[in-house]
Amino acid sequence: MEIDLSQVTTGPFTLYTIETGRFRLDGGAMFGVVPKTLWARQVEADDKNRIPMAMRSLLVHSEQTGKLYLIDNGIGTKFDEKYEAIYQVDHQHSNLLGSLSHHGFAPRDITDIIFTHLHFDHCGGTTFYDEQGVLQHTFPRARYYVTTSHWETARHPNAREKASFFDDNIKPIQESGRLTLVEDGHIYEEGLSSLVVNGHTLGQQLPVIKANQQTVVFAADLLPTASHVPLPWIMGYDMRPLRTLEEKEDILNRAATEGWFFFMEHDSRNEVIQVDKKNEKFTARTGLTLDDLAD
Ligand SMILES: [Zn+2]
Repeated sequence: MEIDLSQVTTGPFTLYTIETGRFRLDGGAMFGVVPKTLWARQVEADDKNRIPMAMRSLLVHSEQTGKLYLIDNGIGTKFDEKYEAIYQVDHQHSNLLGSLSHHGFAPRDITDIIFTHLHFDHCGGTTFYDEQGVLQHTFPRARYYVTTSHWETARHPNAREKASFFDDNIKPIQESGRLTLVEDGHIYEEGLSSLVVNGHTLGQQLPVIKANQQTVVFAADLLPTASHVPLPWIMGYDMRPLRTLEEKEDILNRAATEGWFFFMEHDSRNEVIQVDKKNEKFTARTGLTLDDLAD
């Protein structure tokens, strides 16, 4: 790994970037009804029409409780070669354990894992197969948090969403005895809560960190990349795209007014963005990192 991993302290929280690897997804699916002539100006597709995607988790250390929260954990290593080729999984660029250790942390240090949702590129790092082929938990002490409505969806997915939930991701979480189901607006502790959106999948929770007069929102799959800031740019993967449209408008209005920072999980070029609203249109202020919070 030869990438920069940033960190910043805001109030009682220190935030650390955890790059867990790169992969590629179909560009058409990533931009829904937007034609390729438009999205291809924003991002370059490969010969299979795939675009590069980050899997960037956020580690949050709280000085007030001593807890160490990890938000999502990437695609993991349980893939066979066929899937790795389809998604061009790249753990040379970066990986979960390497990024944790870069910041001086080991898996057993993590006390809480907040899952935005359980699609395979968000929770695959929770477990791995050891050399004997036995499934093991990566974070032996961590409590897992998922919303009630999303947990129901993951256990009984519809036929269109089923391909995003893998048994070897979901079952060990279910059987761990360490799962806590939470509701919309759950408060993990003072200054760390979550905001639930339902367009991409039911019960996706976006962690919100408020400290030192700053608001940081983990954008997850509400805004996978900075290119998804304009309202009609919505993923074909979303289960309820019109719901996403309403949720984006509401959240982007608040973000533009209050100067929120969005931490970008999937944007391969932008770690952090802010949003401006001019003439009823939203635009992204790009090229930011966690360092831009320190003022
Ligand atoms: Zn997703």
